[in-house]
Amino acid sequence: MDTPQYRHLIETFFTSQPEAITQIFQELLSALEAEGQHLPSSPMSQNYETASVNPEIHVLPGNLKDARDAIFPYFWGTDSWSSPLHLENVKGPASNASLIGALACLLKNPNLCTDTYSQRSNELEVKAVTALANLLFYHTDDPWGVFTMGGTISNLYGAKIGIEKVLPGAMHHGLQGAKIAGIVSEASHYSNQSVAGWLGMGTAQLHSIPTDASLAMRLDLLEEKLEALYTDGVKVAYVVATFGTTDTFGVDDVAEIRRITETQAQKFGQPRPQVHVDGAVGWVLCFFSEYDLEKNPLDFPETLLPIIARAKTCAHGLRVADSITIDFHKMGWGHYPGSAFLVNQRSDLRYLSRSVEQMPYFSEADGRRDPALFTLECSRPALGPYTVMASLNGIGLTGWQVLVAHALEQAQRLKNKLSALEYCHVLNQDTIGPSVAWWVLPKGRNAHEIFAKLEAGQLTDEEFVRYTAEVRRLYEKRDRTKDPRLDARLSFTTSIGYCPSGRSLPAWKAVFFNPRTGPEIVDRVIASIEEL
Ligand SMILES: *Cc1c(COP(=O)(O)O)cnc(C)c1O
Repeated sequence: MDTPQYRHLIETFFTSQPEAITQIFQELLSALEAEGQHLPSSPMSQNYETASVNPEIHVLPGNLKDARDAIFPYFWGTDSWSSPLHLENVKGPASNASLIGALACLLKNPNLCTDTYSQRSNELEVKAVTALANLLFYHTDDPWGVFTMGGTISNLYGAKIGIEKVLPGAMHHGLQGAKIAGIVSEASHYSNQSVAGWLGMGTAQLHSIPTDASLAMRLDLLEEKLEALYTDGVKVAYVVATFGTTDTFGVDDVAEIRRITETQAQKFGQPRPQVHVDGAVGWVLCFFSEYDLEKNPLDFPETLLPIIARAKTCAHGLRVADSITIDFHKMGWGHYPGSAFLVNQRSDLRYLSRSVEQMPYFSEADGRRDPALFTLECSRPALGPYTVMASLNGIGLTGWQVLVAHALEQAQRLKNKLSALEYCHVLNQDTIGPSVAWWVLPKGRNAHEIFAKLEAGQLTDEEFVRYTAEVRRLYEKRDRTKDPRLDARLSFTTSIGYCPSGRSLPAWKAVFFNPRTGPEIVDRVIASIEEL
């Protein structure tokens, strides 16, 4: 078939078209620049009314501009989240370094399922996971990992290895009514619930341990829970230590969790649960592992040094984790999806092999080249390795230290200024990350005293309801009256994860994920609260 129409199709869609493609890319870039003039929100209203009733498909073959036109309104109507006024959530702008990596990946479109379909891109994944593992586990001997579709899936890998460790062959035989459980903290991410449900263990078998005021899992209660579960004949498959809770940056003590699980499992003659770290948000603290606080080569302000010292201490705990989830698409300023699941010992991946019986040591040979032997996914994009390696090396270790330190500094500035207002109280004063959760009460109230009474169990239900309603009402008032050109967009959480006397604490929330958000924006947040 060599009709003119067929030739047109091949020429337009399947031969190199550098001019047509770069022209359209320029147009998209200039639309992106124009977004800088907009307020941080959707620049075009949505049209769900007919989105599903009238989805048209062109009849005649078109060209690359038709492809552009088909998506342009939706591209234009999407916020790239580059405004420094976005403080709502754990989402930042993607960096240009990541963009270069992503574009390169899209041009080649490798499939990481096996070496045959991805050649050196497969090698790039090996490099990327090793670089990340060395950063996180700190120069471990035989780490491994894969990129996944997101933190949820990375957490799923960790839980699945745990289940296979305590119930060998579950991949083949299923759970068969075995009593198994997982453990998380009350401030952990809801993805752990999804994982427990999707793995067939059931969300009812996922036990949440309360946290202390620093949003860290209470170790005394962890120990009690393990004791109770083992006494009941339950197999504990895994404990997820959260390294940076989503709203408030609570960090669980990984080393102590490892020690306690080991001791309890031994006492009851049970296999040790998988200690999986959910570092989706918090992993970036590892960039400080080797920062010399004495010399302070990057001239960080004195007030920041104690925070960096604590970051170093926290990161130390990761060295004893069995596996870790990191989300590069969060504080790595990478494109979605860029999540990695990392194991400290490569041999642990044998638990995920599709045919453990036949080839228990597959990871020695083929596992390196053919991740499809153990990954949940079959086809797998290479965006993760490309965006990660482009970003890590484009920005460089000291570049990362400066960027992360800047975020920590803004969060600290906001915390300090809020704490100075008697009608405001910071709920995550003791955490060190880029997020701040706080209460704003009407002027005249002493928020610090009220919070102290709450923690001491001295607030009546009626008082608690009244105060938390005030916190919410003032949040909504600011949201309604803010000047969208000046005032940052904040968000509201209904529970920060720390629950004194069993009460969920709502709070105002800000996350400093945009490197362009500076002190003037923080100060304006304070001013907008004072004006309420
Ligand atoms: C965001 C987040 C997840 C889920 O990650 P996705 O990439 O959104 O699937 C898991 N854990 C924590 C702590 C998170 O913040």
